Amino acid sequence: MNSIKPLLDDIINGYRASVNEIIQLLKSTGDEEELIYSTALNLTKELHGNLIYLRGLIEFSNWCTNSCLYCGIRAGATGFKRYRMTQDEIVETAQYIKASNCGTVVLQCGIDPFFTTNVLADIITAIKATTGLAVTLSIGTKSYDDLARLKNAGANRFLLRFESCQQSIFKRIHPDESFEERVECIRNLQKLDYQTGSGFMIGLPGADLKITARDILFTKELELDMIGCGPFIPSPQTPLSDESILDDYSIYYKTMALVRILNPQAHIPAATAFDSLKEDGRDEVIKCGANVFMPNFTPERFKENYKLYPGKSQVDTSTDIYDAVKTRIEDLGRSVSSGVGHALRMS
Ligand code: SAH
Repeated sequence: MNSIKPLLDDIINGYRASVNEIIQLLKSTGDEEELIYSTALNLTKELHGNLIYLRGLIEFSNWCTNSCLYCGIRAGATGFKRYRMTQDEIVETAQYIKASNCGTVVLQCGIDPFFTTNVLADIITAIKATTGLAVTLSIGTKSYDDLARLKNAGANRFLLRFESCQQSIFKRIHPDESFEERVECIRNLQKLDYQTGSGFMIGLPGADLKITARDILFTKELELDMIGCGPFIPSPQTPLSDESILDDYSIYYKTMALVRILNPQAHIPAATAFDSLKEDGRDEVIKCGANVFMPNFTPERFKENYKLYPGKSQVDTSTDIYDAVKTRIEDLGRSVSSGVGHALRMS
């Protein structure tokens, strides 16, 4: 008999678990741990089927005026080349993503003032006109008005992680931003009817199981359409370079599975950072509840300079990214979808 089974069943039926109950689940081992993974996987298949949605990522600028302590492209970081893709390069890459059977393009960058709201709106309009792809933005905190203009230009979705809901940690790692501003931006996205995504880094310095449990519960409180979480990976030449990853990797996977169990409807990507933990890290996350894969389509000459953390630029380097990803997903007994994969609440 599994003693956590009644708790998992209650959570699936809508019970609001306490921080202590989530900690108990995070501590589980053996059969109980396996039950968490199988529960998450079964729920995923029930709601989202056997399909994995692809979101083609373009990292279009690595310039950044912010100094987030964890990030390899923070302002002032050196040892790599700063780049901005041109509008034509971005649109051409989006067309390649479309030709590669992905239904969505994700546009990500550092906090780069060159890309004003007008410039971004032009890029989104051009992508929409030539590809019809769903457009997701991952461009940092924006004002309500900017978000409204980008939505009018055709943006469908927006990703903005809250990173950590523990105030002391958030404040320490984000010298340029407040937690309240981020949450306000997330709420504005929801008011503007964006499909809204957020999430956190697992294993940030100072985050114990209690803090992780709170982060997990906060994903539910935010009522998100998409939830992106991944391991914190210490990046060289950042103030957190000497910090370590967790000894017990199972905490990463149990966290992902619990995020799924608390948020059955959400689209959950297998974040790239999992491949920096171990070669098949993203596969492990698909086995515990992720249903989205974000192949990196940033052209090779730029990709090597988008170094948020070590190992990032080595992913998806095959000449045919789509074929490689398809094989990877089919090896897990799943199929890739060429659909757009909008939020379930919209269907
Ligand atoms: N400028 C955008 C995009 C940030 S990069 C924004 O501010 O939203 C996307 C995500 O990468 C971040 O939200 C963060 O969670 C993750 N990331 C950055 N550095 C990382 C690191 N060292 N380890 C793990 N994840 C990291």
